[in-house]
Amino acid sequence: MRMYDIIEKKKHGEELTKDEIFEMIAAYTKGDIPDYQMSAFTMAVYFNSMTDRETFDLTEAMATSGDTVDLSAFGDRSVDKHSTGGVGDKTTLIVAPIVAACGGIVAKMSGRGLGHTGGTVDKLESFPGFRTSLAPSEFIQQVTNIGLAVIGQSADLAPADKKLYALRDVTATVNSIPLIASSIMSKKLAAGTRSIVLDVKCGSGAFMQTPEEAGLLARAMVDIGKANGRNTAALITNMDIPLGHAIGNALEVREAIEVLRGEGPEDLRTVCLALASLMIELSCQIPAEQARAKAAETLDSGAAYEQFCRWINAQGGDAAYARDPSLFGEAAHSRAVLCTEAGFIGSCRAEEIGMAAMELGAGRVTKDSVIDPNAGIRLLKKPGDAVAPGDVLAMLYTERPETLDAAEARVRSAVTMTDAPIPGAPLIYTSVL
Ligand code: URA
Repeated sequence: MRMYDIIEKKKHGEELTKDEIFEMIAAYTKGDIPDYQMSAFTMAVYFNSMTDRETFDLTEAMATSGDTVDLSAFGDRSVDKHSTGGVGDKTTLIVAPIVAACGGIVAKMSGRGLGHTGGTVDKLESFPGFRTSLAPSEFIQQVTNIGLAVIGQSADLAPADKKLYALRDVTATVNSIPLIASSIMSKKLAAGTRSIVLDVKCGSGAFMQTPEEAGLLARAMVDIGKANGRNTAALITNMDIPLGHAIGNALEVREAIEVLRGEGPEDLRTVCLALASLMIELSCQIPAEQARAKAAETLDSGAAYEQFCRWINAQGGDAAYARDPSLFGEAAHSRAVLCTEAGFIGSCRAEEIGMAAMELGAGRVTKDSVIDPNAGIRLLKKPGDAVAPGDVLAMLYTERPETLDAAEARVRSAVTMTDAPIPGAPLIYTSVL
């Protein structure tokens, strides 16, 4: 195989064979294909796409490029969830304990935040002592003991994707459905769960801007999962506006605890229950209606909150913080962003709000940036809300007071006003089964 010939073929929109794809991925992972040739290949895919068969083969080649996790001891019960990334998306913190308390086995690897989107691992690290890196035997032991563990992505899992994703990130080739679908699903397949639920975000803060595009990505990923014998389903959810009110690591953990205690924002609770129901339906193999009732009952009874506290404790975190979230404290500096005119909030662009939170110290500008757990934003007014001059639109929190002016400007630029309330886009567009 010559990489030159593969690039040439894809440049002309021809279909690659399985052998060509497997050899290319093996050689790239070993370092035998230089980045400049792989960049040319990903750009050819960006323009000419891939057939379903090619996408399946690419996924399999990347999924088997490193370690795979063996969860066969848990039979059909193991289940994973993946979100394509959003602002204020703390759903894993709520969904994972609901599902585990209902009998699902949640064995999950999560990412860190980069850019305007947050990562579950960073949120969990807000708990003093919480260990996001466990040895494989510890991971399995914790899953056996309490039905739930969430750790950071291991570098040895799908290393081909790790290398390729980093390359796509700097060559403007992230935004291609076969490349995104194979990237995400290669990690999910390698992580070994029998069922996979995907939360495909759609809107200003997401990769996919329209429900139609998000639907295509969801379909591609669900088909890959099913072709590999995994029960797979997706929900397409709104990311035009941040989910809930809190954006920033400890702030989001606190909001997740509110929902687990039966309080918290309704939009967050709704999306969490929808995701949890789907995970319970697939992993416990019960009808959708029954799964929905079980999820709601587990949340409302406090069983999911108790499971959350057990989880934080099992993974070395100080569960006193889960019992008394005021222990998280507050950032040293804060500012109230006030409304200046009367009317209704029209839109509130998630991406800009995410960028503002990042500037305050809640997210990473580069992979090596240090994040401040208490930095972030509480967005107190959301689309449809009536406001008057002087109302608090948002609270900003930071350890770096010099970032407040720029963050305030971004929050203001994210928000538009209307004279009358306009109907918002749906919170959950559709499911892809
Ligand atoms: N997340 C991934 O893991 N891969 C992509 O290509 C895009 C988002």
